Amino acid sequence: MKIKRAVFLDRDGTINEDVGYPNQFSQINIYPDSFEAVRKINQAGFLAVIVTNQSGIGRGFITEGELQVIHQKIESAFSKHKAHLDGIYSCPHYPLSSAPLYRKNCSCRKPNPGLALQAASELNIDLESSYMIGDKVEDMLFGWNIKASSILVLTGFGQKSLSKLKKRGTQPAFVAKNLLEAVNWILRREKIDLTIF
Ligand SMILES: [Mg+2]
Ligand SMILES: [Zn+2]
Repeated sequence: MKIKRAVFLDRDGTINEDVGYPNQFSQINIYPDSFEAVRKINQAGFLAVIVTNQSGIGRGFITEGELQVIHQKIESAFSKHKAHLDGIYSCPHYPLSSAPLYRKNCSCRKPNPGLALQAASELNIDLESSYMIGDKVEDMLFGWNIKASSILVLTGFGQKSLSKLKKRGTQPAFVAKNLLEAVNWILRREKIDLTIF
């Protein structure tokens, strides 16, 4: 199988509005620009892979089944806009969960790299030449943990994260207004001109 590169995407605050712990699709407001962003990732030959911490499961706010339904509906919303998500990987754990199944200091909760490692083995991804786009410090650390390039978006918690990163003296590869601008930056950096398609 051919080795591929991925653009890993955080979900809440990056693809859609961060509203806390949604448990149904009607609470998921996908930013209008996200469709074009994912379409461009597809056209550029990268995999579009969502990696999302869903501790709402461990906290008892949503079940695994409900999360699956939300993710199926997100996938079909993107399909309707001719954009394709190659995978959605989520961490259900919460270290303080009252449910033993989810009470875990796991290796899949961002910034830990577990979700990327799982995606890499299932989808044959070269992590070091991949990108991570997200709105939180954890997303940037996740990207750096897998030696990918981390891009911060200023949607969601992006502004707060930017000042936290400045205090730490760390800097993302790029700070973008939103997901579409982040993807456009990747295309420029990779010298990919989609207008010739
Ligand atoms: Mg987020
Ligand atoms: Zn986990």
